[in-house]
Amino acid sequence: MSYTKDQVTNRKFDVVIVGAGGSGMRASLQLAKAGLNVAVLSKVFPTRSHTVAAQGGVSASLGNMSEDNWEWHFYDTIKGSDWLGDQDAIEFMCQEAPKVVYELEHFGMPFDRNADGTIYQRPFGGHTANHGEKPVQRACAAADRTGHAMLHTLYQQNVKARTTFFVEWMALDLVVDREGHVVGVTAIEMETGDFFTLQAKNVLLATGGAGRIFQASTNAFINTGDGLGMAARAGIPLQDMEFWQFHPTGVAGAGVLLTEGCRGEGAILRNSDGERFMERYAPTLKDLAPRDFVSRSMDQEIKEGRGCGPNKDYILLDMTHLGADTIRKRLPSVEEIGHNFANVDITKEPIPVVPTIHYQMGGIPTTINGQVCVPMNGDYNTPISGLYAVGECSCVSVHGANRLGTNSLLDLLVFGKAAGNHIISNFKANESHRALPADAADYSLERINRLEANASGEYAQSIANDIRSAMQQHAGVFRKQSIMDEGVDKIAALRERVKDLGLKDHSRVFNMARQEALEVENLIEVAQATMVSAAARKECRGAHTVVDYEHPADYAPAPLGRDDQNWLKHTLWFSESNSLDYKPVRMKPLTVDTVPPKVRTF
Ligand SMILES: Cc1cc2nc3c(=O)[nH]c(=O)nc-3n(C[C@H](O)[C@H](O)[C@H](O)COP(=O)(O)OP(=O)(O)OC[C@H]3O[C@@H](n4cnc5c(N)ncnc54)[C@H](O)[C@@H]3O)c2cc1C
Repeated sequence: MSYTKDQVTNRKFDVVIVGAGGSGMRASLQLAKAGLNVAVLSKVFPTRSHTVAAQGGVSASLGNMSEDNWEWHFYDTIKGSDWLGDQDAIEFMCQEAPKVVYELEHFGMPFDRNADGTIYQRPFGGHTANHGEKPVQRACAAADRTGHAMLHTLYQQNVKARTTFFVEWMALDLVVDREGHVVGVTAIEMETGDFFTLQAKNVLLATGGAGRIFQASTNAFINTGDGLGMAARAGIPLQDMEFWQFHPTGVAGAGVLLTEGCRGEGAILRNSDGERFMERYAPTLKDLAPRDFVSRSMDQEIKEGRGCGPNKDYILLDMTHLGADTIRKRLPSVEEIGHNFANVDITKEPIPVVPTIHYQMGGIPTTINGQVCVPMNGDYNTPISGLYAVGECSCVSVHGANRLGTNSLLDLLVFGKAAGNHIISNFKANESHRALPADAADYSLERINRLEANASGEYAQSIANDIRSAMQQHAGVFRKQSIMDEGVDKIAALRERVKDLGLKDHSRVFNMARQEALEVENLIEVAQATMVSAAARKECRGAHTVVDYEHPADYAPAPLGRDDQNWLKHTLWFSESNSLDYKPVRMKPLTVDTVPPKVRTF
């Protein structure tokens, strides 16, 4: 049954936020407290957003347990990013970190405590004292359920501030007027199948990551990159999409994450000889080197025949020496995951792990205030009026080519709040909304009606599975130019198949087949952005390791294949033309000196 224009209902708000994860709810809290009329949409109940799965912690240089300061955090984040992060945004984030964490504490966040009442902090990969000298305790944690505690705290504060939630609603597209202002979104209420335009003075995208473009992923099934699809279809480029983080310790075969907090608490990675091999690759930080480094080292061990198990295809994470008491106090969920997903008692035996897709470093390009920005007349950072993006769907860019663990929860808080503040400072209560164009819903209605009309078309799940297996094969931990080039062709062919998506189930109420088909139209945007951007970057940087460009460790001036002369720049991918552009990395911090590129050893 096709949708007609007269079935579209319009509702008006000051601000519409798509996404009720940590970033969306931190922004909505700021706005609702300032008295703005805010609507937050979510495909799932807010506290089921992927932020709830975050285990390890949120970084801030509180210095509660070892000496620390924001400049060390700033340095570690730049080095972690393999110098692709923008240094002004990184300075802002690291300076703000203690403030936003204390704010969260005062909202009621149940952090673990030290004997003196201060927030408990554990070591985490790549976070160091004095520019790499030794690991520092910077990750503020609530056992191994930090995201859970944070998301519930933010939800409760939002309820108190009277934020309006639209639960189990799916946003489809941005509504842009003739002058290029974003004036709302189109959306479907899943329970009824009813169609809406939600008109707003500002729209904020906070739709999270798109880890479901890969087969083996630590991400929730709802992480299909909807915000990225919405932006790409509206002509907004996606930035740095070649950079995807593999988390070293996903449970082998299951994909479920075991937090880096395990290694923060002292867990050790071992090969089939029982060797603690990270001592060879990263003599100073060992198992606590950044994630790209550890994932590659694990893959190398497996490749060289020192993987464990009958097929020698995984590594063992050993926590047996931590003692059952520490494990139950600091890592209770990890113990449960061991039982449920690997049938392993982690207090008594090591658990099989493999590097697993975890996080997208790239996303929708934004300024430090969360304004979505595009290249225009020679200025790469021209803001789009009425549109913001924060959290994992955005690229501000603080994570560059490789994110440090615990910096994402921090990014949600800092930039969610900053975007909220920026909207408030430009908000004029008496100013009326810009007019909604007469064709506001047409594009989304056409998308749905095309699916409805094509009963013999392809089934969404079979295309989704093919996208996932192509990405897994062609954009892995170690990449090869010829394999990426093949991947580009495969994804282009899959894009053609997406045009033939069909729908057999025409019901309105909770039609999950329709939702999955609409999600596949987002997956393909993210997959193509990733594959095309990756095949074009002819160097190794952070999570993008291409064997063709690797150099020996002692090669000068570009050890390990990083090419700063030609590639110290951000990638921009445009959907409509399937083409690329590049923009400079902002190397100038706000108040301190630039950290110049250096060899990255740990
Ligand atoms: C298992 C796991 C553990 C992690 N652990 C840590 C950690 O310890 N520390 C750390 O810093 N980082 C961690 N990360 C990363 C971090 O948790 C995420 O990057 C972050 O939580 C993402 O938050 P977000 O607000 O951007 O999006 P999410 O929390 O993913 O929320 C996205 C929201 O958007 C909504 N949405 C999406 N599409 C639509 C649509 N079309 N219409 C309506 N709503 C939509 C969803 O319903 C959801 O509410 C972890 C990630 C994973 C997967």
